[in-house]
Amino acid sequence: MRRKLAAGNWKMNGTRADLAEIAALAEAHPEPGCEVLICPPATLIDRARAVAGPSVALGGQDCHAAGSGAHTGDISAVMLLDAGAHYVILGHSERREDHGESSDMVRDKARAAMEAGLRAIVCIGESLAQREAQNTLDIIAGQLSHSIPDSATGENLVVAYEPIWAIGTGLTPTTDQIGEVHDFMRMKLETRFGEGVGRSVRLLYGGSVKPGNAAEIFAVSNVDGALVGGASLKAADFGGIVTALAQS
Ligand code: PEP
Repeated sequence: MRRKLAAGNWKMNGTRADLAEIAALAEAHPEPGCEVLICPPATLIDRARAVAGPSVALGGQDCHAAGSGAHTGDISAVMLLDAGAHYVILGHSERREDHGESSDMVRDKARAAMEAGLRAIVCIGESLAQREAQNTLDIIAGQLSHSIPDSATGENLVVAYEPIWAIGTGLTPTTDQIGEVHDFMRMKLETRFGEGVGRSVRLLYGGSVKPGNAAEIFAVSNVDGALVGGASLKAADFGGIVTALAQS
């Protein structure tokens, strides 16, 4: 049985004043019926712990592949764990694009995160041009195979399918399109890691998930939750998604 996960990605948004949203989320959902995760900017993780309570877990948005060293501006997995994170988002398309992160780099970061004791949420997804060229499943297969280390298990890995064209645009794939990719990812994971591990890895959908469309997305096979950007910034919006997931 896979635990459902509602994960919020605050991206480069939020200062101390916004911790009130995490407090409000925790207060409104003391027993959410699914796992709830907020990944705020790294500057807020330590302070967020004080308001998140037991019902809201915290995560980072990136980590370095090395444990420590001369990497100005970077943050290691151990540092995130020390600050109070239990998860880290890796390979988000914005990092792949803004920072030139390849799938091989993402795999090395995921390995470091797992070694440190963090759960890695590895993001993959096609561009609009790749979908229109009917290359979606090839792209997904390549990113999946290169971005995930051999050390992955159902406990330390979550995969998020995030079509790039759906992120922050208000556009979403049809439920059939989401189902096709999620069933494909499940099959690929079972083939590589065996049925036990392959079936236990949670698969999130990400891209313009809102309270209004969450229920139909959560009804799709092999969708175990969502990675949510914009709608995770406000407790009321994210709370609606949490409720839809708990009821799915
Ligand atoms: C994201 O950035 O991971 C994301 C899914 O963003 P949004 O929900 O705003 O589309």
